[in-house]
Amino acid sequence: MRFQDFHRQSIEQPDIFWAEQAKLIDWERPFDKVCDYSKPPFANWFVGGRTNLCHNAVDRHLKARADQNALIFVSTEVDREQVYTFAQLHAEVQRMAASLQALGVKQGDRVLVYMPMIPEAAFAMLACTRIGALHSVVFGGFASVSLASRIDDAQPTVIVSADAGSRGGKVVPYKGLLDEAIRLSSHKPAKVLMVNRGLADMPMTPGRDVDYSALREQHLNTTVPCVWVDSTHPSYTLYTSGTTGKPKGVQRDTGGYAVALAASIKHIFLGKPGETYFSTSDIGWVVGHSYIIYGPLIAGMATIMYEGLPIRPDAAVWWSLVEKYKVTSMFSAPTAVRVLKKQDPAALKKHDLSSLRALFLAGEPLDEPTAKWIADALGRPIIDNYWQTETGWPILTICNGIEQAPSKFGSPGKAVYGYDVKLLDESTGEELKGANQKGVVAIEGPLPPGCMQTVWRDDERFVKTYWKSIPGKLVYSTFDWGIRDDDGYFFILGRTDDVINVAGHRLGTREIEESISSHPNVAEVAVVGVADQLKGQVAMAFAVLKDTSKAATPEAALKLEGEIMKVVDEQLGAVARPARVRFVTVLPKTRSGKLLRRAIQAVCEARDPGDLTTIEDPTALQQIKDLVAGR
Ligand code: AMP
Repeated sequence: MRFQDFHRQSIEQPDIFWAEQAKLIDWERPFDKVCDYSKPPFANWFVGGRTNLCHNAVDRHLKARADQNALIFVSTEVDREQVYTFAQLHAEVQRMAASLQALGVKQGDRVLVYMPMIPEAAFAMLACTRIGALHSVVFGGFASVSLASRIDDAQPTVIVSADAGSRGGKVVPYKGLLDEAIRLSSHKPAKVLMVNRGLADMPMTPGRDVDYSALREQHLNTTVPCVWVDSTHPSYTLYTSGTTGKPKGVQRDTGGYAVALAASIKHIFLGKPGETYFSTSDIGWVVGHSYIIYGPLIAGMATIMYEGLPIRPDAAVWWSLVEKYKVTSMFSAPTAVRVLKKQDPAALKKHDLSSLRALFLAGEPLDEPTAKWIADALGRPIIDNYWQTETGWPILTICNGIEQAPSKFGSPGKAVYGYDVKLLDESTGEELKGANQKGVVAIEGPLPPGCMQTVWRDDERFVKTYWKSIPGKLVYSTFDWGIRDDDGYFFILGRTDDVINVAGHRLGTREIEESISSHPNVAEVAVVGVADQLKGQVAMAFAVLKDTSKAATPEAALKLEGEIMKVVDEQLGAVARPARVRFVTVLPKTRSGKLLRRAIQAVCEARDPGDLTTIEDPTALQQIKDLVAGR
């Protein structure tokens, strides 16, 4: 079939199109209506249908592939490799589900998962959806303040965590950060379920903390059936950064998500049941949810869960896994490729990669040198795909499962089936139909199955933030700039808001600013994202001090910079730490007091800052220019 026709049908006859895709999963009760869009922008998919994510990911494969690999855990941090078949995964998920139930978790409750990349994290996620509870995974790299705000928003009954993670051979203790987060949060979980890896101290709070291994022992043979839930029942929330400091809980449904993932594995990621999928992401991010856990498993594929760096013990480690487990689809981020690029390219030639159909990259712009390098080194197709936490699966890519099409360097590809993507003028909302015009990448409602249902407990924020940012229209904004060429290929040109993308990790500059401002000597601060060769972008901070004598000498300034970075590390986590914190006496603002972030960013990247007629104090930008130039 021609992709163009496939896409057209998905937009013009969505009911027929998605009813067909819905056959890819099991339903306990068939749906009555494919899509209810009677209250835009809220879309309800597969209304009346009942299903369960865990059933589709695990139980339904027991008949055909109970003894085939399901979860392949590889840690080069603690030197462990363990393979769970579908039958073993089924058993472990039930043990975890029974444990959660024993701790009082019921359908609709939230369970916050704050864990390193270990099998128990996957068991916990699947156990939640098995019993109709919502998981809310918080990336293990986040520290107490980030975690506390998510605890308060999700209000979990139980938190599942572990003593520690490990990165580059260094133990990263979790328990202290978790205890501090619970101390800071207003909501207190009833119980904390702890997995002890024996890596770090794990002081237990009596009455609250429970050791998982002991509880698991009591439930070795407990059967926990899947709870059939409505297709629209929320399966999870996942926090992501936006313009304001407060993270948004992206809420996902059940049936639409299962269908969207099953279809994407077939049409985009070229995976088939019985094969192996390897995504190098982390369960704390959306790629981990969709393409480490649910997508591959729903498709009956084995999935590799990897704890470790791409270059440890050597740069061939990922490729050795591709060879060993005959990986057919691999998913990573451009940053990881840029890390590999610094290593000996021979590492990629050491292993037989013939099983691999393609390497899929996403999360940040894929620059041409990186794309060319990895394409040459691997000798396999490289497929860029563009999407967001909010959508849960690709918006733009090349759907080679439908029709083979060439990729273009610098472009993630065309609008994926189900997505009616438009480029809109930011100020008038008018559609830009001509080629090569720059506009905001927007999606006409309804969003296809699998995308966010709403912001957790905040429908108003969902409507206001995502659907009303473009004047005169109820349309979903991605907050990315883009252009489209004559052939329908899109090119993404960066965010329209204050979100930055560091090594594929999405961070809100406001969150970092709030954290820096909590340092007693900081009066005001601006954080911007600045282009970086390795990480794509890094955060750069410019702070006005209350007491400038504390940074009077270069040594003192450096010491203060280190102190401020430590505050960010402790509150948000090292992922959010700015590359530099520089001190200025005034920040560039408009006369009405708005920070001129785009001008600061332009100066940091040695670009023209553009129209500065509204700037209050032109010396402010000069100070930043001088600092950047090292004067
Ligand atoms: P996240 O929600 O963390 O996945 O971040 C989503 C954002 O990352 C998007 O809005 C884009 O700004 C950026 N992004 C993701 N994938 C790509 C891609 N393939 N090319 C360019 N930017 C991307």
